[in-house]
Amino acid sequence: MRIRKIRVYAHDLPVKNPPFVMASGTVRSLDTTLVRITAEDGTEGWGETCPVGATYAEAHGPGARAALIAMAPGLIGAELWPVALRRTMDGLLNGHDYAKAAIDIAAHDLIGKRLGVRVAELLGGGAAGRVPSYYSIGVGDPDETARIARESLAQGYPRLQVKLGGRHVETDLEALRKVWEAIGGSGIRLAADGNRGWTTRDAIRLSRECADIPFVLEQPCDSLEELERIRPMVSHPIYMDESGTSLNTVITAAGRGLVDGFGMKVTRIGGLAPMRAFRDICAARNLPHTSDDAWGGDVIAAACVHVGATVRPDLNEGAWIAAPYIDGHYDETAGLRIESGHIALPSGPGLGVTPDADIFGEPIAAF
Ligand SMILES: [Mg+2]
Repeated sequence: MRIRKIRVYAHDLPVKNPPFVMASGTVRSLDTTLVRITAEDGTEGWGETCPVGATYAEAHGPGARAALIAMAPGLIGAELWPVALRRTMDGLLNGHDYAKAAIDIAAHDLIGKRLGVRVAELLGGGAAGRVPSYYSIGVGDPDETARIARESLAQGYPRLQVKLGGRHVETDLEALRKVWEAIGGSGIRLAADGNRGWTTRDAIRLSRECADIPFVLEQPCDSLEELERIRPMVSHPIYMDESGTSLNTVITAAGRGLVDGFGMKVTRIGGLAPMRAFRDICAARNLPHTSDDAWGGDVIAAACVHVGATVRPDLNEGAWIAAPYIDGHYDETAGLRIESGHIALPSGPGLGVTPDADIFGEPIAAF
């Protein structure tokens, strides 16, 4: 199974009720990149990568497209199986995992469609039919945050993530207190996501002053070293998100016991093949984790849900998808939707979604 054709598309994804605010950036619209791969026999697969703005991570839309265009000529004729494909990509370009992820996702989709199996089976199987999700509330007024928390609970979400940081820690403390007043005792799980935005001083204070609230502290500070420093001083489990940039970092963090779990993004770690290895490392160390991405449309959402469906149930912190925050679907019928806080695993082969290519217009590059 070899690659015959690669098309790259750029697409503006409309965000509902903008802006969505995080400590590390403000989302008003999304610049997503899609990859459409055709194999020698005409089977097609789709991939996507959608950095959430230019300041959330070391990634941006034009960067993804430049990396894809740099690799594409060398990928024509390349073997599609994920390990072989990864070696080919690494031989063409160092780093840029978030761009390589789009190719990796498209290859999984294509292989699944060709073999008539779901991507979840390609990732090892044992898939749940319904994957838990969680609702993420942007940085905002504490009363409004508590109102949305109550609403998410009523909608059936098993987990809630509150974005904090980038402002006075007193306001974050007030927001956490009000959220807990709204949802405490309901059984819904809570994550306080600092998105790298706190100093160690503020992260320690926030945790100590809220020692009675059972939340997970997600990526409170910027670096691995800062997480290591606050680790023995906080009252809450720490999850790593943005710092988990590679399998290497994950092995270090898991091996040294630096964290109690992860928020993981499929494109940040390089696609579904490395995500599968990440999942298995977490299972070996009994570390809970999410299976997310940094926004994107139905292709990314399907990739997250397929891998999320294969996570050991007791470690599964859910798959976050951007569907509630963006307008429209690439695939009106099979596009991913959240119902009662859960997402049904698409049943079709591959990713189970087939984008309407007309939505994206002409490709910006074709090889
Ligand atoms: Mg996070």
